[in-house]
Amino acid sequence: MAVGGKRILVIGSGVGGAGVAALLQARGHRVTLLEKNGFYGGKCWSFERDGFLVDSGVHMFSMGASGQHGDINRRVRGDLEWLTAQPSEHLLVGGKYRVNLYQSPFDPRMALSNAASQIKMLRDRLLRRENGSPGATALQNEVYRASKRNTFLESLLAAAKIARLNPSYLVELDEISLQEFLHRITDDRTVLQGMAALAMLLTVVPYHQVSAGEFLWCVTNIFQKKTLGVPRGGSREIPGSFLRAFLRDGGELRLNCEVKNIVVREGRARGVVTADGEEIDADLVISNAGIKRTVEMAGEENFPEDYVAYVKGLKYSYSFITVKFGLDRRVIDLPAPSFFNIPNLDPDHMFDYLERGGVPEDPFLFTPLPSEWDPYAAPPGKQLVIMGVPGPIEVNRENVEWCERILDRAEERLMEIFPNMASHVQWKMRTHIAHTASITGKPTGECIGLAQCVGQTGVHKPAPRTPVEGLWLVGTDAGARGVGTEQAAGSALYVANLLG
Ligand SMILES: Cc1cc2nc3c(=O)[nH]c(=O)nc-3n(C[C@H](O)[C@H](O)[C@H](O)COP(=O)(O)OP(=O)(O)OC[C@H]3O[C@@H](n4cnc5c(N)ncnc54)[C@H](O)[C@@H]3O)c2cc1C
Repeated sequence: MAVGGKRILVIGSGVGGAGVAALLQARGHRVTLLEKNGFYGGKCWSFERDGFLVDSGVHMFSMGASGQHGDINRRVRGDLEWLTAQPSEHLLVGGKYRVNLYQSPFDPRMALSNAASQIKMLRDRLLRRENGSPGATALQNEVYRASKRNTFLESLLAAAKIARLNPSYLVELDEISLQEFLHRITDDRTVLQGMAALAMLLTVVPYHQVSAGEFLWCVTNIFQKKTLGVPRGGSREIPGSFLRAFLRDGGELRLNCEVKNIVVREGRARGVVTADGEEIDADLVISNAGIKRTVEMAGEENFPEDYVAYVKGLKYSYSFITVKFGLDRRVIDLPAPSFFNIPNLDPDHMFDYLERGGVPEDPFLFTPLPSEWDPYAAPPGKQLVIMGVPGPIEVNRENVEWCERILDRAEERLMEIFPNMASHVQWKMRTHIAHTASITGKPTGECIGLAQCVGQTGVHKPAPRTPVEGLWLVGTDAGARGVGTEQAAGSALYVANLLG
């Protein structure tokens, strides 16, 4: 390791902060990482309860070892290990059809294991049983779709460009929503339902808002890499492995150290002041605290007015709110280590409850079974189940009560699907927006960070370099594409490459 380099302060040890700290320390810089919490990892964190290894959120990682996490781990010579599975997901579609998803859509086992469901779907479709009669909205949508529909050849060419991850085509697709893109190609309700649910899973934004370019980049990479999985030892092992490499290489990690202000003099970041009043000087400050909080900490007066207005106008993703269940025996026995409930709702309105209020009768459920991925996530013979449902983000009394009502119904639905669970719950706990907000220190409990919606992805994504000289951003709010933590890790790689 080179002696010298720049004195760099990183604020926050989320995946983005931990990743960039490890990468820059490995390149010979002198990095100090300041984290306000008594634990590292931000939203990608896990803890122990009665011998269970519990995710503080509800995580699966779309590209595992072949994605951005694996890339950082290799560059810093980390010790991160991955677990994958085939099939990786088991779906209950519309309360009727059971579908297993394999890592590759061309895996012959996929066709074989889903043959019975496909025949059932086809029969129901022929007998017109599945959708009921179209109402006015559905009819309007049909007209809208027909007016926008691509020819078969246009759709085929689009698919080829997406499969090659053609950068200029994806930039073009950043300007339209996934809903608009899909309606140009298909009217198939089941396909659209699957895509609306997948968009919510990957970006936590409803598909009429999510950028088609961003979504298709994420999905194409998942199918090309075929390594969706989880780290051995729980989600915290991702930032944990980066930080072990960071400390091994001589980096300094300070937990329970909140940054109050970023010191800016003569248009340049000079260091930080901590909540305890300590001043720490640096050549560069890299903030993982989110773009809005970073501008506040550095003082709005130090940025051009139009930049401040742009930052204030940026929107966040929605939240995922969770119930975790420690079961006293293994109850759920599925072909895959994760379960999804895909409601039979109009795909254009599947997540309207997030905008209009209310509780979905049949909620979309994202339910990884961590102890099916990694037996060490639960004591022998027991099972850990984590259920996530999309929710609002502002933390206030009404929304907290609303989250509780959404979770009441989600829990009820899970018990309807797996009736044996109820009598084997050893413990259960809920974590939602207030919990996420307390981890990040924000007044909101968004799942991802900035929403990957039209106008906020690709060329519209905030750049890691801010208008204040020497002040950089890292994490989901800066520079990269991808799913949640992978976006944060991609940002770390990007920033480290720019800084050298
Ligand atoms: C319930 C839930 C489910 C999720 N599911 C998935 C999933 O399945 N797959 C996936 O890839 N992603 C998922 N995500 C999203 C993912 O966890 C986040 O997008 C990602 O971890 C964000 O990383 P980050 O580096 O941007 O920052 P964060 O995790 O937000 O970390 C920021 C860090 O900065 C610290 N900090 C802030 N201010 C200060 C300050 N002033 N001084 C010092 N430190 C400070 C915070 O304490 C925190 O540690 C999920 C998130 C949640 C909440």
